[in-house]
Amino acid sequence: MYKMGRTWIELSGENLIWNVKQFNKILGGRSQIMAAVKANAYGHGAVEVSHILEEAGVEDFCVASLEEGIQLRQSGIKGRVLVLGYTHPKAFVELLRYDLTQTVVDAAYAEKLKQYGKKIKVHIEIDTGMHRLGERFERFEDILAMWQIDSLEITGFFSHLCVADSNAETDRDYTLWQIRNFSQVTAKLKAAGISNFKAHLLSSYGVLNYPEYCFDYARIGIALYGILSNETDTTRLKPDLRPVLTLKTRIQSVRDLKAGEGVGYGLTYTASCPRTIASLSIGYADGIPRNLSNHGWVLVNGFRAPIIGRICMDQMMVDITGIPGVLTGETAVLIGKSGKEEITAAMFACWSGTITNEVLSRLGSRPERLIRRPGTIRYMDGYLGSRKAVR
Ligand SMILES: *Cc1c(COP(=O)(O)O)cnc(C)c1O
Repeated sequence: MYKMGRTWIELSGENLIWNVKQFNKILGGRSQIMAAVKANAYGHGAVEVSHILEEAGVEDFCVASLEEGIQLRQSGIKGRVLVLGYTHPKAFVELLRYDLTQTVVDAAYAEKLKQYGKKIKVHIEIDTGMHRLGERFERFEDILAMWQIDSLEITGFFSHLCVADSNAETDRDYTLWQIRNFSQVTAKLKAAGISNFKAHLLSSYGVLNYPEYCFDYARIGIALYGILSNETDTTRLKPDLRPVLTLKTRIQSVRDLKAGEGVGYGLTYTASCPRTIASLSIGYADGIPRNLSNHGWVLVNGFRAPIIGRICMDQMMVDITGIPGVLTGETAVLIGKSGKEEITAAMFACWSGTITNEVLSRLGSRPERLIRRPGTIRYMDGYLGSRKAVR
């Protein structure tokens, strides 16, 4: 079936591999990338992204849920896969079936795994100050006791930072305090004779702001996709990261408006003079935030076209007055480049009042994910088996 008929995401495999190389350079062989491919790889397409990463030498992945881990295995991913979130005890059997590593989210959860009795690979998470998941770092006895549980095959030990993106002095102090807490517990474990585990602490902003504290892995998500969370974020390291995702849609109809005519649900836009408008085959069910109604732009033929009227579930309208030669069936770009113009994910997120992580991870399942290699776009089904290249 033709996959670029309506709305689709083009992934630059080249840029993704480029970003992997940038991070490998920063980590300098001391530390390995654990790619965060949760939430469908931040909307990019977890299967597509993970296969490219595996080809680029990445051997470790983390996901949010059991189901996301199973999806990777069913698509043929061979690397280690860590489930960061809670898995219900009734589903523990699936961890074994798909050879997934489970996070021990606290000491009570370690008890559940003990009761289950079968040997399961786990990483122990400790709470060094974020207070979301992990056993509290102060409870060293409880943490140490996890190593006494026969059914836990403990291969890793980690924590998560919560203000590593901020350069404010109090946030830097807090992060250094979290890092100290993590290091101290790691050192105490080693002093107790326990050292056969991999430690990891930093995610994207951790690596970019605190690269001297890389442990065995860095769990990198957003920056691996070539972007930061906000346009205005500044980081100590500024590697040349290249965006992986382009979001495109078809122009489904072009029409003229007379002065005074309104557009869309609620008629929230009214033409003050004659306009030419286009309707696009993308809407909030595809992940376009509804608060971009009458707000923000898309790119058409290398020009910025303002969004007019309310974003609908499956469609939206833009003003293309003055843009030469726009025809039905041509493409509009919501995130990415067109001619000399570019709308970055960070701009798109800023217009809708949030961060790139959110807008990208909310891109729905409806847009096709296509992998762009130089000169071609490869379909994922072609990627795994017989290859079909289309222009
Ligand atoms: C999502 C997540 C990451 C990746 O975070 P980025 O900021 O996208 O790099 C790392 N670790 C944990 C525990 C996470 O939940």
